Amino acid sequence: MGISDVLKSNAHNKTTTSKIRVGDLFSISDDSNNGDNLDSDMNLRSLWDKKEDTSLITFVNDIFLNAFKQWASDIHIEPRTRSVNIRFRIDGNFIAYKTLNIAKKDSLIARIKILSYLRIDEHRLPQDGKINYKLFWGKSIDMRISIIPTIYGEKCVIRILKKDDTPPELKDLWIMPYNMVKIKKHLKDSYGMILAVGPTWSWKTTTLFSLLSQFNAEEQNISTLEDPVEYRIPWVNHTQINPAISFTFAKWLRSLLRQDPDIIMVWEIRDEETAKLAVEASITWHIVFSTIHTNSATHTIQRLVNLWVDPLLISSSLRTIISQRLARKLCNDCKQAYNPSPKIRDYIVSKVWKYLKNKEDLVLYKSPDKWCDKCNHTWYKWRVWLYEVLEMTDQLESLMLKNASRLQLEIQAVWDGMVPIKEDGLMKVVMWETSIEEILSVLGT
Ligand SMILES: [Zn+2]
Repeated sequence: MGISDVLKSNAHNKTTTSKIRVGDLFSISDDSNNGDNLDSDMNLRSLWDKKEDTSLITFVNDIFLNAFKQWASDIHIEPRTRSVNIRFRIDGNFIAYKTLNIAKKDSLIARIKILSYLRIDEHRLPQDGKINYKLFWGKSIDMRISIIPTIYGEKCVIRILKKDDTPPELKDLWIMPYNMVKIKKHLKDSYGMILAVGPTWSWKTTTLFSLLSQFNAEEQNISTLEDPVEYRIPWVNHTQINPAISFTFAKWLRSLLRQDPDIIMVWEIRDEETAKLAVEASITWHIVFSTIHTNSATHTIQRLVNLWVDPLLISSSLRTIISQRLARKLCNDCKQAYNPSPKIRDYIVSKVWKYLKNKEDLVLYKSPDKWCDKCNHTWYKWRVWLYEVLEMTDQLESLMLKNASRLQLEIQAVWDGMVPIKEDGLMKVVMWETSIEEILSVLGT
């Protein structure tokens, strides 16, 4: 029995799901099973005849399953003049999945709207929804749906949120020893703020949850405020923020602080009120983890100042800033060893010479010129994390209080032992995890 069969049989077996979704009704071949519910949704059912209905359900199931199996982060369903293109974003790059005739567009989008409880008769306004898709017993994929009208019709983006409930272990995040030492040191602090920063899709929350799972949640009150909840850790109190009820992160945080938490995880700091509350909480004997959307560790200090947080409070609360990016990992089945040109070799040696034993005969790996089925001829498979870990020092604090420029903060941070993210990236080239081309494209030259 293949995964798609299991999926279908799960949809039939109502005892496996606590909630029957409207979408599930369409995968039932025997009408006698759920006649009442079907009657109430006859308007939806009339969209397709039975035969077309089944193939549409299978088609949508296959999109989800293929995206899931290929570790896609999102699915894009895009109408054009005569066709509908379906593409997956895998490791940051678009891979074409299928192209359909434009005539299929409406039924495909309607099926997704039904699964995510959206209005199928609304075509002019953007809509957002969710799907919790049962794969097999105990496993499910959470997806966020966004539908926006374009001049060719509605475009749908499905973000795949969760592949596993359990966050990866800290040791599986490619954190180099020079960064791991600093991170572990601050996990032992009794209060303060630890931030994971980076652009969208840099998996900041994954890093935070790997850090959170280092604590003994049974002996402490660990509470989170999230949107969405992606991982679940036993004994941790996960709260899903509901933006629709206009109760902001800051309001949630204020309420949460009354529950006397030891460790708090705030999903994202993006406004002044949340920033101030998080900083205040972290100097009153709480450990606060959060993320900020910034480009580098030193940018983050400036961002907090720009959110009108008192620099004196920032300096007493901030413990460490973990800035991160994702780079594509070379496919293990097709990567090829080579000796880089003297120019590339000298560049790498100039940056990471202290970690290299053999500087003359540097061997690197690159993508090959042959077809590889394992990576769909993309030469990359999965990802590798790149990090830059800044620790607050007295020197950095005094610079910050003097309103120093970002460059001054950067120079001081490196002087105090921060390994710049570019060097961390080059280390991962030297360790044959990724290519020099990938690092230069992710981090710039
Ligand atoms: Zn390959």
